[in-house]
Amino acid sequence: MNKRQPVKLIFVTGGVVSSLGKGILVSSLGLLLKCRGLRVTIQKFDPYINVDAGTMSPYQHGEVYVTDDGAETDLDLGHYERYLDVSTSQANNVTTGRIYNSVIQKERRGDYLGATVQVVPHITDEIKTRMLELSGTGEYDVVLIEIGGTVGDIESLPFLEAMRQIIIEKGKKNAVNIHLTLLPYIKSAGEVKTKPTQYSVKTMLSIGIQPDILACRTERRMTRDLKKKIGLFCNVEVDSVIESRDAETIYEVPLLLSKEKLDEIVLEKLFIHAKAPYLNHWIEIVDRIKVPADGKVKIGICGKYTEYQDAYKSIIEAFVHAGAAHRVRVELEWINAEHVERDGPEKYMKAINGLLVAPGFGDRGVEGKILAAEYARTQNIPFFGICLGMQVAVIEFARNACGIKTADSTEFKPKTKSPVVHFLPGQREKTEKGGTMRLGAYPCRLKPGSLAHRIYGSEFIHERHRHRYEINNSFIEELEEKGMVFSGKSPDNHLMEIMELPGHPFYIGCQFHPEYRSRVTTPHPLFHAFVKASKDYRNEHQSQVKEAAEKA
Ligand code: GLN
Repeated sequence: MNKRQPVKLIFVTGGVVSSLGKGILVSSLGLLLKCRGLRVTIQKFDPYINVDAGTMSPYQHGEVYVTDDGAETDLDLGHYERYLDVSTSQANNVTTGRIYNSVIQKERRGDYLGATVQVVPHITDEIKTRMLELSGTGEYDVVLIEIGGTVGDIESLPFLEAMRQIIIEKGKKNAVNIHLTLLPYIKSAGEVKTKPTQYSVKTMLSIGIQPDILACRTERRMTRDLKKKIGLFCNVEVDSVIESRDAETIYEVPLLLSKEKLDEIVLEKLFIHAKAPYLNHWIEIVDRIKVPADGKVKIGICGKYTEYQDAYKSIIEAFVHAGAAHRVRVELEWINAEHVERDGPEKYMKAINGLLVAPGFGDRGVEGKILAAEYARTQNIPFFGICLGMQVAVIEFARNACGIKTADSTEFKPKTKSPVVHFLPGQREKTEKGGTMRLGAYPCRLKPGSLAHRIYGSEFIHERHRHRYEINNSFIEELEEKGMVFSGKSPDNHLMEIMELPGHPFYIGCQFHPEYRSRVTTPHPLFHAFVKASKDYRNEHQSQVKEAAEKA
């Protein structure tokens, strides 16, 4: 793009209902623009008052996504990173809480020189500053800004007002609004209905915003007539009414939107000259996801939020990426840790090809996770433990292989005699919960020749963390004596980052969260290796079953 061009802004809002997939739309458009050679980033504005997503329950808000710089963010940032293959930061996720926090701090400092501090202009100005922050860095040609919530909510009004002002100030050549709405299909009428979209655009107009492009989420194909009708009633050119149809996989959405020419329309409206998009690599991956030539691999995920899978969003996606690399569909079998506690592991684990013990907080279901880890260890089922999953594996090994019967974590049993897992230095004293864990990317050194070293193919790695507890170093000797290897450590050797069991076909746990770093085009090495091990396990056991059948 011509370097003298101002940075272009694309605001994406949502209407009618929530969960229309704004995050996927923004990520897909970002990818299409990136594949045209543009430098792109995405920012998300969330209307809630929490300063960040770190204090929110996964039941209410899904996974907390952690960036390299340690921000605890909305899970949509995960989509941005996975699609665009870029790293986001604190500046990419702004909440109402963060805005108010900074305005109130300024007021206390006296920065407003006696003014009455109000939503307009003080809060809206603060929002505008954040919305323009990334365009000021010189690193991007286009900044996409997703505004959370649904138009019409009280909470998102200041964000919309800030957006309106920016569009007026920058001009339509430099800033546009894409509004994502829903076209419900009413079965009894056999028709797709446009009224909710019309009302949603009316709501936008009532606050002074005319959407430039309408993306319509629909189960059915949109006819040209339907687009004309919507365009006419919503003051949008017919060619700027885009169909956003349900896709077989979220990774197909960029390809569908490209067919609808969304990126071309955006370039035209913003007067951007860019080359044709290079999408071949993406087409290949979508093809692998849709047609897994090597069949299915069944992986059990043992956790406590199993009925609400958004809590494990990045893990689920990391399996899609690794599955595509091995040409298999990873079928996830959700194993509720409390059920394992109640019924024992066999019932839930006999048909799986690999077990992942998920991250988590608190003692609910932990004994079930310990039983699951033991079953995987003793039955030679590939095992992968993430964060709490690694801690659980160490507790299990301490209890059952080292004979330390009272082994536990002080997170679950503060007074345990054998605190195999305990507070990280400095964590005990922390009283505030928000943003106080060990967060973000830290370096780790891998033991030459270990499984971890072979998987990563390098000695130094950086991975993202989110934890308060760690493996207690006073138990390391005993654990190592019985065969556990700590193959990844912080460079000062104090923190155990990866553990593995050499005698087992695949048994590995990590204190960090590899799932945050898996990308569509570059699956995470640990997920890649774990899916491979699970696929091998499946193949071996398939042939055993076949052999037995042939003998009979
Ligand atoms: N609760 C554990 C800790 O704080 C594990 C955290 C996690 O799994 N993210 O260390």
